[in-house]
Amino acid sequence: MEKIKMTTPIVEMDGDEMTRILWKMIKEHLLEPFVELNTEYYDLGLEHRNETDDQVTVDSANATKKYKVAVKCATITPNAARMSEYDLKEMWKSPNGTIRAILDGTVFRAPIVVKGIEPCVRNWKKPITIARHAYGDVYKGSEMKIPGPGKVELVYTAADGSEIREPVHQFESAGIVQGMHNVDQSIESFARSCFNYALDTKQTLWFATKDTISKKYDHTFKDIFQEIYDAEYDEKFREAGIEYFYTLIDDAVARVMKSEGGFIWACKNYDGDVMSDMVSSAFGSLAMMTSVLVSPEGYYEYEAAHGTVQRHYYKHLKGEETSTNSVATIFAWTGALRKRGELDGNRELMAFADKLEKATIDTIEEGKMTKDLALITTIENPTVLNSEGFILAIAEKLA
Ligand code: NAP
Ligand code: MG
Repeated sequence: MEKIKMTTPIVEMDGDEMTRILWKMIKEHLLEPFVELNTEYYDLGLEHRNETDDQVTVDSANATKKYKVAVKCATITPNAARMSEYDLKEMWKSPNGTIRAILDGTVFRAPIVVKGIEPCVRNWKKPITIARHAYGDVYKGSEMKIPGPGKVELVYTAADGSEIREPVHQFESAGIVQGMHNVDQSIESFARSCFNYALDTKQTLWFATKDTISKKYDHTFKDIFQEIYDAEYDEKFREAGIEYFYTLIDDAVARVMKSEGGFIWACKNYDGDVMSDMVSSAFGSLAMMTSVLVSPEGYYEYEAAHGTVQRHYYKHLKGEETSTNSVATIFAWTGALRKRGELDGNRELMAFADKLEKATIDTIEEGKMTKDLALITTIENPTVLNSEGFILAIAEKLA
């Protein structure tokens, strides 16, 4: 059989621990036998990040600007324990944070829906994709404990020295205060990423804030979305047969629970943090959740939503058998290959991505799965496979 060719490379960002092991197996058994893989390889494994003073992460993000499509393996974000485990020169920042800062994107997370892994919410039939604004609000807030009676104000000092003041509270006793911000440019990027991704995936877009209470802060989010939609997207959405829909956050939550899914839900930073964990656990498993960073310029970086599955890796190192779910990592690859195919007009590559996804889903629906899914499936007597066995079962189906 002749292998499928790729005219333009995708950026390959290798990672850490158990997902690094899965990465190699996926390439060997599911990709390389069928596709003449054309990637520009960056090793984001923690050892190599440390050796290069994290320059490799920056280089991989810049390469993504060049080639537009990247696929990333899960990586360790160092903490105190990792400092000694890997003898690190510095507590390097989260690679995802570094990449996101360079590409200025929005992260879209969507569950992979298969029969036999049923969402807790019975009426959810299609995936719900969460888009989380990844800048500002409480994540870049300043806070203060107020020791006792006194006045708190917001003060803005303009470049020319003039001031605008807004009272926050006249404290009669001890309390707390918080100041937070966002910038129009970041909200605009967020809005454009959401509108573009909705068009890309032909799904209706929901956005919700609390603009009735937050008449300036949240209202600005609402206004920016609406202005950009009216000016740039209204017609395109109509042509695609999708909608943009704004409502209050509490109304959105109520409607989401009663919906059948199949839309994108754009959330402010905090709402997205909270709601993405609710949606992913209600759909069944973090191991079945994909994630893509979409920049307003149209760069795409695909990955799994879960981490490096450290606990399984330590078992693997001890020579014990593991049953780690590779589905989200496989779908990161298919997402990237399909996007590459789309941008290059490479139909064969797009069709391959579809086939690999179908083979993966069919394998599970036939009852062959990893342990995490076997524990929650409604399929009777599932066959529990180990990490490699599951990938080999998919390979067999794909062939
Ligand atoms: P994790 O890797 O997501 O794993 C947490 C637990 O979830 C696992 O111990 C396992 O449960 C279950 N799990 C997650 N993915 C699974 C899969 N594919 N198959 C089967 N079970 C799966 O989170 P963590 O252990 O808290 O973090 C490990 C490292 O990942 C950290 O160093 C963190 O910095 C990094 N991380 C990276 C990213 C990223 O690169 N995007 C994201 C999050 C975390 P059981 O042990 O019960 O089987
Ligand atoms: Mg969170």
